Amino acid sequence: MTAMELGHQYLDGAYRIGTGGVFDRVNPATGLVAESLDYASLQDVDAAVKAAAAAFPAWSRLTPGERSEHLLKFAVELTAHADHLAAVETAQTGKTVRMSHEFDIPGSIDNVNFFAGAARQLQGLAAGDYAGNSTSMTRREPIGVIGSIAPWNYPLQMAVWKILPAIAAGNTIVLKPSELTPGTSLLFAQIATAAGIPNGVINVVVGSGREVGEALVRHPLVKMSSFTGSTVVGRRIMEMASETGKRVHLELGGKAPLVVFADADLEAAAHGAVAGSTINAGQDCTAATRAYVHSSLFEAFTARVAELMEAMVVGDPLDQDTDMGSLISETHRGKVSSMVQRARDSGARILAGGYAPELPGAFYRPTLITGAAQDSEIVQEEVFGPVLVALPFDTEDEAISLANDSPFGLAASAWTKDVNLVMRAAAEIEAGCVWINEHIPMVSEMPHGGFKSSGFGKDMSSYSFEEYTNIKHVMISHDTAVHRSWQDTVFRQR
Ligand code: NAD
Repeated sequence: MTAMELGHQYLDGAYRIGTGGVFDRVNPATGLVAESLDYASLQDVDAAVKAAAAAFPAWSRLTPGERSEHLLKFAVELTAHADHLAAVETAQTGKTVRMSHEFDIPGSIDNVNFFAGAARQLQGLAAGDYAGNSTSMTRREPIGVIGSIAPWNYPLQMAVWKILPAIAAGNTIVLKPSELTPGTSLLFAQIATAAGIPNGVINVVVGSGREVGEALVRHPLVKMSSFTGSTVVGRRIMEMASETGKRVHLELGGKAPLVVFADADLEAAAHGAVAGSTINAGQDCTAATRAYVHSSLFEAFTARVAELMEAMVVGDPLDQDTDMGSLISETHRGKVSSMVQRARDSGARILAGGYAPELPGAFYRPTLITGAAQDSEIVQEEVFGPVLVALPFDTEDEAISLANDSPFGLAASAWTKDVNLVMRAAAEIEAGCVWINEHIPMVSEMPHGGFKSSGFGKDMSSYSFEEYTNIKHVMISHDTAVHRSWQDTVFRQR
């Protein structure tokens, strides 16, 4: 019996059996039931929050150096478990094991290492004598118990992006991973305990969003709700948090444009578009979804993208030669395939893919669509599958305005060799990240977060500490007089 078989909740440094019922989890690449998960009950959520609250005083009082030392040991321990984590990540998502091994797990470990260093760089403003007769300084303090909710697309990375800045700053956390993909988050918490992170600092509750997620957001001891997921659920979180005026951090959906200007390197742009739209089977909030291509390159670009997509190997995620594994579920594939069908029905052309291959799991071919209208569903709404829509443009103004014509603003890319145009595009595109001649790579040192309906607040980098800390002004008087001169405004010394 593996440790996780003892239960699918992780509270106060140990696995526990959830008392909220038992639910089957399906392996999306085979369509077969993979395991039975026990879900948390409301009492289990309460116990997890109380464990985090009990751990907070001691953890928050550690020096930054002491917390950093814990995180460095944690990163070493995670590295020793990298193969196991990658195998579990693939088994629960259907993504290729190549992707889990080379992208998800190393990216997660790098984030732990980054925050081990950043923990020692938590700064406030230097002290200053702003009122002449007093000294002001700021203290940056942890908030308390953070309730975090994560999606299924990059289960471990999304969990790590929530957990690390929170605990590096001295908070404790209860994480609710997606009920479709709890495995690596549970292992992560267990490895943290093995590495010496004190019990209760990282807790994981598993269950549905409606029950377990909402209970976590509403819990009075949870001081902040940090969420990554869809825009519709993000709005619901905000609504619930408003009942108590709780702080929220929302990383939501995306519909990233990829703008190919007339002078772009066509081959590089086509490769960038294929990798950018099919990474993680397109289930990536920053994936390239709308390619706006200068009309002089449009035919050549779409032909090359279609050719590269058609050559991609879709199938068994455990095969090292596979380029794209399955989508997360049969239901999700149904949503992707209906959106493509509606685009087709409204007159769009499918230049590549547009169908599910004859395989038992939730697979879908990389798909390129042209001839869709800018205001159509396939151009405006998040598909969250391997689907790229290409539209032509003629002028720079038109390209920028098409790119910005979206409720989302998470990420974008511009492809050009013109340095002046690079600077204009970087300034004018409304997105939390603008890549130039690139699409997808991220680094732990740089912030990630959206504009517009893609949310607010930052994951990764030292900017994330702004979400997970309170800034306190401390003012120390130098004045020895009993009655201070400014008090005359209120009452005069008689
Ligand atoms: P989702 O919103 O359906 O679910 C996300 C999480 O919220 C899950 O754990 C789910 O159980 C929980 N949840 C659902 N309803 C809830 C409720 N009422 N109260 C509390 N919790 C609830 O999203 P998903 O389908 O898991 O993930 C895909 C979405 O995530 C896409 O829209 C994608 O763009 C977005 N995403 C955004 C980022 C980013 O950094 N901006 C990163 C990854 C994914």
